[in-house]
Amino acid sequence: MKQLSREEQALSQRPDAVAMLAEVQAWSAINTGTGNLPGLEQQAAALADAFSALPGEIALRDPAPVEVVGTDGTVSQKAHGSHLVLSVRPRAQRRFLLTGHMDTVFPTDHPFQAQHWLDEHTLNGPGVADMKGGIAVILAALCAFEHESAAAANVGYDVMINSDEETGSLSSAPLIADLARGKAAALTYEPSALPDGTLAGARGGSGNYSAVVTGRSAHAGRNPRDGRNAIVAAADLALRLKHMESETLSINPAKIDGGSANNVVPDRAVVRFNIRPKGEADAEHFSRIINGVIAEIENEHEVSIHLHGGITRPPKPLSPEAEKLFGLVRECGAALGQDIRWQASGGVCDGNNIAALGVPVVDTMGVRGGAIHSADEFLIVPSLAERAALSALVLHRLSGGQ
Ligand SMILES: [Zn+2]
Repeated sequence: MKQLSREEQALSQRPDAVAMLAEVQAWSAINTGTGNLPGLEQQAAALADAFSALPGEIALRDPAPVEVVGTDGTVSQKAHGSHLVLSVRPRAQRRFLLTGHMDTVFPTDHPFQAQHWLDEHTLNGPGVADMKGGIAVILAALCAFEHESAAAANVGYDVMINSDEETGSLSSAPLIADLARGKAAALTYEPSALPDGTLAGARGGSGNYSAVVTGRSAHAGRNPRDGRNAIVAAADLALRLKHMESETLSINPAKIDGGSANNVVPDRAVVRFNIRPKGEADAEHFSRIINGVIAEIENEHEVSIHLHGGITRPPKPLSPEAEKLFGLVRECGAALGQDIRWQASGGVCDGNNIAALGVPVVDTMGVRGGAIHSADEFLIVPSLAERAALSALVLHRLSGGQ
């Protein structure tokens, strides 16, 4: 620890591992599947209570309206939980953004609801790594920063904990964009990319679409020529989407809804697909040609197609500013005896949306763990205090403290 000043030593020793574990266990016990609004409300209240240990104002922000396309092609609004925002020293010149999410991928009827110790250092439980552990890291790091770093008074920050990250942050994206704007740097608390603490560097993007195909129904025996088969047009779209793939653009036609009885030419189908562009150019290329492909299918099959959706996670290449921030995290890790590396990731998260605004972000500052999104999800418990010390030191040095 010879690379640490006295102040930095105090900062890195402040996080209380026992208190952090208690928080994670209490929060993991609350089911917060993205659709469980009462659970999310309970979680938001518990978080508001915990984060009141910090200075600043806490507010619950309403979700933005989100449209969903039903299996019959009709559009309706989908309800979401509120998002928690803590704003500290909003008038400071230099401000940061720290983000986390309170939702998990486990709905109330999922069998994975309880915690189990795998060994004395490893806790299995819903959200313990992704990312209730990460939220405990945010809180402990900021408490250490506020109490031990003289530099804290010169800067400000917002903490945003959304309730819909696992379904793509559709109801929190405007809030994230709003909070990211003008920030000097951002830290997001997804678990590390590997259990050894390796961070996720560059990320591709992701877009989700629903194409509603409307044809004309007819009797399959009496007047089949009068029909315009929406399922056939939908199948054609799925095949053409697959042919649009390249080395740097994956497209997954995921689902086709529609049709009725065997003797009816189907007049309605909905094609769902996901795209993963590696870079900005791939995303632009897709957006440029998709409308032409749809127009061709409309012509050939004499159907109409309405395309809903878009790229909601823009690709996140490593900008020079982001590389500098990664460098700082590595340097702080080295000073704490932690060997920090990073590698490209195939996944997406709120870091994509933050980076799209030109704000440097490291988005895997959360705990070490693994098997997320499965009933094997685990948290390496000693990483709670370890990663809180890392974040506290990063915040301290970002604020000009040495
Ligand atoms: Zn997550």
